Amino acid sequence: MRQVNPSRLTGPPMRLRLGGELLPMVGHVRMYVCGITPYDVTHLGHAATYVWADAAERVLQWHGHTVTVARNVTDVDDVLFAEARRRGESATMLATLQRASFEATMATLQVRTPDLAPSAAQHIGHVIQLAAALLDRDAAYERNGTVYARTAHAAAQAGLDQASALQRAEEYHDNPGDPDKDDPLDIAVWQAAGSDDDVSWPSPWGEGRPGWHAECAAMVLALFGSSVDIHCGGGDLAYPHHACEAALAEAVTGVTPFARAWMRAGIVSVDGAKMAKSTGNLVLVEDLLREHSPGAVRLLLLNRPWGRAWEYDPSALDDAEALLERLYGAASSPGLAPGAAAVPAALLDDLDVSRAVAIALEDGGQAARTLIEILALS
Ligand code: ZN
Repeated sequence: MRQVNPSRLTGPPMRLRLGGELLPMVGHVRMYVCGITPYDVTHLGHAATYVWADAAERVLQWHGHTVTVARNVTDVDDVLFAEARRRGESATMLATLQRASFEATMATLQVRTPDLAPSAAQHIGHVIQLAAALLDRDAAYERNGTVYARTAHAAAQAGLDQASALQRAEEYHDNPGDPDKDDPLDIAVWQAAGSDDDVSWPSPWGEGRPGWHAECAAMVLALFGSSVDIHCGGGDLAYPHHACEAALAEAVTGVTPFARAWMRAGIVSVDGAKMAKSTGNLVLVEDLLREHSPGAVRLLLLNRPWGRAWEYDPSALDDAEALLERLYGAASSPGLAPGAAAVPAALLDDLDVSRAVAIALEDGGQAARTLIEILALS
């Protein structure tokens, strides 16, 4: 836990808005960030999620809050196992190497190291506790060694119709066609090991492994108790991942909402398609950092509404580099007094970086220096 500027606690009360809603905070703030599945390199879409979560953490800390950030590593996942098999490596080795590479890239981007970095493999026992608790509450059922949770209601809560929900369940490997399920939108909390699975753990229901949504639910409950203040993740995680994660946690604890606020960074596209390994349109952060400063990459990601999808264009990075130079120039000017307070105020208002940048350029001096300090743009 880090505490910065405790003297700010004696100033006027801060009023954070997030997603258009006031989000009152008293003292300690719990943030959970859905982390990577460490099977491949870090692309700009990943960086957007983690730089935005980092910006939120820094704004809260600047205002005197103690923030505890947990960012998990999904090291138990089918795509990781498949990639390890393809490369002829062990999943543990692949995950370890990719995780180290990701963390080095995050450090270069000045994303703070999280206070807690749980991995799914460390929390198998908690997933088993979660599955058992869901069974006790009749919110789950067991078939052939797999524990399924009744999560069909989560799709409607996420604002999806049945057809869209089924499509997304398929896309995210939730196997809606599994004949053992009572409802195609139920999810596996605990998945029985298949004959070709090389990673599994013993459980009361036989050998198996956790389901992805259950991993994050179990880690949040184990680390933070029954709820979290801000839950971050990629813009594509609303359904099924976050909706089902919340449904599992709420079914067990009875505490709602599981997450007081969701902060999902806007999806990054290239040539009209979401940046994804399967699409083959990845923009790798390490490539960008060869020719551009970390500050310019951060400013490119942050100088826009945090939740809105956007299209990456290489010229935008040149523009961000030029804008950063203007901010440095403004910071070295004497400047006008009012901006120094207006910049943090703009950041509290739904993390409105674009407005804070405009104020910093207009007022210069301390306003620009404050912005550069809070958002780590130096
Ligand atoms: Zn997650």
